[in-house]
Amino acid sequence: MSDLVLVTGASGYVAGHVIQELLGQGYRVRGTVRSAARATAVAELLPGVELVEADLGSDAGWAAAVAGCRFVLHTASPFPSGVPDHEDELVRPAVDGTLRVLRAAAGSGVERVVVTSSIAAVEVGNEGHLLTEVDWSDTEQCDAYQKSKTLAERAAWDFAAQHPNLELAVINPGMIIGPILRAEAGTSVDGIRALLAGGMPGVPRLNFATVDVRDLAVAHRLAMETLQAAGNRYICAGEEVSFPQMAQILAQRYRVATRVLPDWLVRLSARFNPDARTAVRFLGRAAHLSAAKAEHDLNWTMRPVADSLLDTAESLIRFGLVPAPRPARPAA
Ligand code: NAP
Repeated sequence: MSDLVLVTGASGYVAGHVIQELLGQGYRVRGTVRSAARATAVAELLPGVELVEADLGSDAGWAAAVAGCRFVLHTASPFPSGVPDHEDELVRPAVDGTLRVLRAAAGSGVERVVVTSSIAAVEVGNEGHLLTEVDWSDTEQCDAYQKSKTLAERAAWDFAAQHPNLELAVINPGMIIGPILRAEAGTSVDGIRALLAGGMPGVPRLNFATVDVRDLAVAHRLAMETLQAAGNRYICAGEEVSFPQMAQILAQRYRVATRVLPDWLVRLSARFNPDARTAVRFLGRAAHLSAAKAEHDLNWTMRPVADSLLDTAESLIRFGLVPAPRPARPAA
């Protein structure tokens, strides 16, 4: 039986850790990149991975990418920090790309596809109760990214329903933090980078359900290997932690702003800063999600959020993405 796994979006933050996890467990890995320029950086970071070119926006390359693979882990999807001019910039590659990957997989006898979705496909419009895998985001209330993830996951389940020979499992991660593998701070660790860089006057009252990228990589492997994972989605996110709490944890080691910004000030700054507009929607909002199903079915565990935060900070400093921050003031 083939031990070859295709990981889409091999240049990504999550994919890098997923590939390391798979290689560590003895799998052979093929990865997709969308340009030769990205391939060079990935090949340096992850030697031993075969790289092929395929773009979510085109059919070219996907049949060759999945050929001979037993499993496909589909992590690639647009994940920009800013707001696109039009939602289709995110929705089309997410949905059409997922269908391209699934069609190629079904056509080549792949056993199981694990799709990286998001809690963005679970939580929007669902407040006031502990969210589980039965919850789906309301696309009427979604921003472009949330819509892209919700519609892509829905499309994947619809496809799976029509192709019973192809198993599908879905991972719904919370906000992903944890060490970066190269000198590129992705969207989800950018807030931690900004805190460490000292450019923030204070911290907005945003709440997150986080997951460590290393734990998430294990979850992807377990969703691929565990028999009963087929046909299931799995929330992978810890208990709610606020940005001010994160700042307090980092402040144990580094000198970072811990002052909580009043909501009105964040709203005001969003008028002039388009990137802050997304944040405004999450001000003071709860993020209560249950990862019990992943813990039970996959025997999956999460490390403490403080470990993830401090390891993220250490990696950002090591790769020079923030000037070495001043150490925390000694306790009085
Ligand atoms: P990332 O570092 O930006 O990785 C995204 C990957 O997708 C990159 O390899 C990127 O390629 C690729 N990609 C984007 N558009 C593409 C296209 N049109 N064709 C081919 N490849 C394309 O983001 P990440 O944090 O690792 O995210 C990985 C997955 O996790 C995504 O599905 C994301 O929605 C999901 N997720 C992330 C978070 C989070 O907090 N980070 C939370 C929940 C879910 P390039 O390198 O060439 O751009």
